[in-house]
Amino acid sequence: MSTAPFGSFSPQGGLVQIGSKEELVRQRLEDERRRLEREAGIERRQVQRFQRPVERPFTKSQRDDTTILFGGLTWKHEKLVHGALESLGYKCEAVPVPNKKAFQLGKEYGNNGQCNPTYFTVGNLVEYLQNLEETGLTRREILDRYVFFTAGACGPCRFGMYEAEYRLALRNSGFDGFRVLLFQQSGGLNQAEAEAGLEMNLDFFLGILNALNIGDVVNDVAYQIRPFEVNPGETDRVLDECMDLLHEVMRKTQPYSLEGKLGSLLKKTSFAGTAEYLGKFLNQLYGDDYTAALREVRDRFNTIPVDRTRVKPLVKVTGEFWAQTTEGDGNFNMFRFLEKEGAQVLVEPIGTWIMYMIHQAKQETKDERGLDLIRNHVPKWNLAKVFGSHVNTRQKLAKLTVAEKIFAREYHKLIDALGGIAHHLTDQYELQRMGHPFYNSRAGGGEGHLEVAKNIYYSNKDLCHMVLSLKPFGCMPSTQSDGAQSAVVSQYKDMIFIPIETSGEGDVNAHSRVQMALGEAKVRAKNEMNEVLKQTGVTLEEVRQFAQENPELQQPMYKYGHHKGVVGVAANFVLHVAERMKAQRREVVVVN
Ligand code: SF4
Repeated sequence: MSTAPFGSFSPQGGLVQIGSKEELVRQRLEDERRRLEREAGIERRQVQRFQRPVERPFTKSQRDDTTILFGGLTWKHEKLVHGALESLGYKCEAVPVPNKKAFQLGKEYGNNGQCNPTYFTVGNLVEYLQNLEETGLTRREILDRYVFFTAGACGPCRFGMYEAEYRLALRNSGFDGFRVLLFQQSGGLNQAEAEAGLEMNLDFFLGILNALNIGDVVNDVAYQIRPFEVNPGETDRVLDECMDLLHEVMRKTQPYSLEGKLGSLLKKTSFAGTAEYLGKFLNQLYGDDYTAALREVRDRFNTIPVDRTRVKPLVKVTGEFWAQTTEGDGNFNMFRFLEKEGAQVLVEPIGTWIMYMIHQAKQETKDERGLDLIRNHVPKWNLAKVFGSHVNTRQKLAKLTVAEKIFAREYHKLIDALGGIAHHLTDQYELQRMGHPFYNSRAGGGEGHLEVAKNIYYSNKDLCHMVLSLKPFGCMPSTQSDGAQSAVVSQYKDMIFIPIETSGEGDVNAHSRVQMALGEAKVRAKNEMNEVLKQTGVTLEEVRQFAQENPELQQPMYKYGHHKGVVGVAANFVLHVAERMKAQRREVVVVN
């Protein structure tokens, strides 16, 4: 459209000089809007938009008197993050798991139309601060002595609005000026500012990553043991003890720094920074602080007697990141409910999400290959620049690949130390391959294609009897993937898939829907067991008797493999025991 200036007559009849056609259209629209408003008697009010407040900084000098609040994960992850932050010299506190009151407060003080996790997490912070006030602290003291630390992102879903939501709700609830610290998901390993109260440097990220990874594997193992424990409550008791032990280890483990004679020498050189970075990485890769503690935890878990002959449907929980992680009202206390109903829960580790972020960054780098050349109008014959751009992309990809490999190696190292029964990280490339035909893997936000891909992955690989997807009310990406899931279930007809919308109310309704799907999964688990008993020719009583005679079979760390086409723990166990019984009979025959 041309933007040449020209004149026009206004509706009032005068000649108005209009700068361009666009301005003319805009002015006509505005005149018409005013006319219609006058006719309808609508009065225009000044719109007051929320402005991000200028935040008071949290500085290094305030560190000793300031408590960093954080939350949003399971209590196990939070306890370890607490230890990691303490080891770096911070005072910190995890806010409790959000409850319904937090949800109501989030609704009361926040914007309308937010997604469910926003209400829960924002309201939870307000509730915590109100409780502090009730203990006798003044608002000024709360503002000065506490800060909140959370993750931030630029969207594309409402996650990009969390920071603004926190600030709005804090202002509306009377805590205007309360400080919210963000670390950006895509911000890399060093987001530290000089003299910042919270230094987001390499030590900080390694500490947090170790805490999250250890939290993941311990959580996974506890969920594997609890449904089969012989003495009710024993897993939780041992878990409590183990978490205390691991918290202490996290708290006492100091980040690597250059020390000794060589360290002092290196500190005087320009190589000091690089040497320290290198030392930190090597210490991370080959240090034994966490693995030794996990071996101790493994031995403690191994004292819990288990009965693996209990037939239980295996339920894989997926969905939106927060809804599938929290262990409270935010997802209708779904984990405990499933266990109470006789299911075994397969929880989702935070590690999958971290691998997904790296995978998406790689994907983006590949997709944007050469775009800088087009943007800067670099001709094809300028080989030096074309080559430079190519090398640049290669270097970025190589760094991300190294990050991917190191992360997986570290994660699996912890699994091995904890007895090797926790689940390995799912392969992101395989998830992409499975999910992409149904949900474009370039579409970001929330769990992206993962929700769809995990459904196919766990069902097709005989890793669960049923997939339960926890989707927050008002979640944009989950709503999209819901549409795609109908195509998935119509293609994979054997799947038992149930999406549950978590809305902060309506527990009974949600539980009853889950119960119905679980009934189907229970039948499948029972049929599978009957099939296995028929195939092996043993009875459950014989298997139990054999397990009594061989105590290692009652230990949770005992490994016995997974048979293709067989999902349940009990069915796989029977197959294994039947093989051992057969082998034992053969031995007896040979001896005689
Ligand atoms: S993924 Fe869904 S629930 Fe989570 S922040 Fe985004 S919109 Fe909200």
